[in-house]
Parts: sequence; structure tokens; C-alpha cells
Amino acid sequence: MKLLVATKNPGKLKEFRELLAGLPVELTSLAELHLDVEVAETGDSYAENALQKARECCRVSGFCTLADDSGLEVDALGGRPGIRSARYGGSGLSDSDRVTLLLSELESTAQEQRTAHFRAAIAIVCQDSRSWVVEGQCDGVISRQPIGENGFGYDPIFYLPDRQLTMAQLPEDEKNRISHRAQAARKARALLAKEFGGAERDA
Ligand code: IMP
Repeated sequence: MKLLVATKNPGKLKEFRELLAGLPVELTSLAELHLDVEVAETGDSYAENALQKARECCRVSGFCTLADDSGLEVDALGGRPGIRSARYGGSGLSDSDRVTLLLSELESTAQEQRTAHFRAAIAIVCQDSRSWVVEGQCDGVISRQPIGENGFGYDPIFYLPDRQLTMAQLPEDEKNRISHRAQAARKARALLAKEFGGAERDA
């Protein structure tokens, strides 16, 4: 079975290829299909946004489609930036501008109140209108300054107390085992194996 991964980000496609390896699904991408689909993310949750994206790309491509949406929730900011993580501070900002803005918002927030969560939802939608959503979460603490060169987005300020490192200090393969997206992808993998057959594996 062909499964379209609704992303323009080659890094995400690679990550999903690894996480879904061994299943009887052949992953393809918007780029491979020469499709340029823009879906406005107007939902109130990661799940709604992922479903919107998967539905539209399934409609346009005719293939079962997997789409994800994710964001960073900071407890001291009432869950912000949340579903607006990519647009936090406005459209003209870089990842590093957003990190600086977030740190400035948390300047007077004490260490024990700097808890945060990366959250991700993955939706799968098929032509026969069957759809599924799974979610994953990774807990951490917002550091006082950016540390580390790996990853993207808020990774340099997402400190993992158990590892005593930020997400941006973790090797890529370790991030891809513990991240919110990896946790959601493992659930997606189990679901695809159940619905479409194929080997389950420990991850
Ligand atoms: P999207 O799911 O690709 O739309 O990502 C939403 C936004 O959330 C990204 O632009 C990042 O700002 C943030 N984000 C999501 N996942 C991660 C992650 O694994 N590391 C760092 N930032 C992330």
C-alpha cells in the first residue's frame, strides 16, 4: 500500500521512513508526487490540524495520507505557544528569534516553574474516509539559555532533566527515539500494522 507523508520537510520524511520501516507500506511524499498542497492550519488542536492536512492531501493525491502537527507548550505561559509554535512572535522571525522571545517571556520565571511539553499528533486518512489520530508527548524544562547545535526550533532550550542535556545536544537518533513525534509515530506504526498487516517491532 502507498502511504503519502504530507510534509515538505525532507527531514521529517526521513524520520518517518525510519520509524515505519518494515511495514507493508511504501512511503511517498508531496515532492515525489509533484504536489504542492497548502492547507491552512485553522484547528484548535494538533489533532484537528493534522486531520485537516491529511484529509486535504488524501483528497488531492488519492492515497492514504499521514500528516502531523506539533508544538511546544510552556506551563508558565498557560500552554503557549502551543499550536501557534511555528508562528510565535509573527511570521518574520527565525527559530533563534523565537527562542530569544520565549526566553525573554520567561526571564522572571523560577526554575521549578519552567516546565514544558513538546506535543505531537499524527493523523492518517484513507480514501474510504477511515481516519485515525494518535498523539505523543515529551516533557522537559525551558533552560536559561540555548545550548546545543542539533535539531531545530525550540530544541536548544528544551532541557531534559533525565539526560541532563537539551534536545539540541542529543544525537539525532536519540532524539528520534524519545521525541513527541517518535512516540506518536510508534503508535501510528502499531495502528498501521494492525489495520494493514505487517510486523510489529520493539522501539
Ligand atoms: P510543525 O508540526 O512542523 O508545524 O511544527 C510546529 C512548530 O513546533 C515548529 O515550527 C517548531 O517551532 C515547534 N516544534 C515542533 N516539534 C519540534 C521539535 O521536535 N523540536 C523543536 N521545535 C519543535
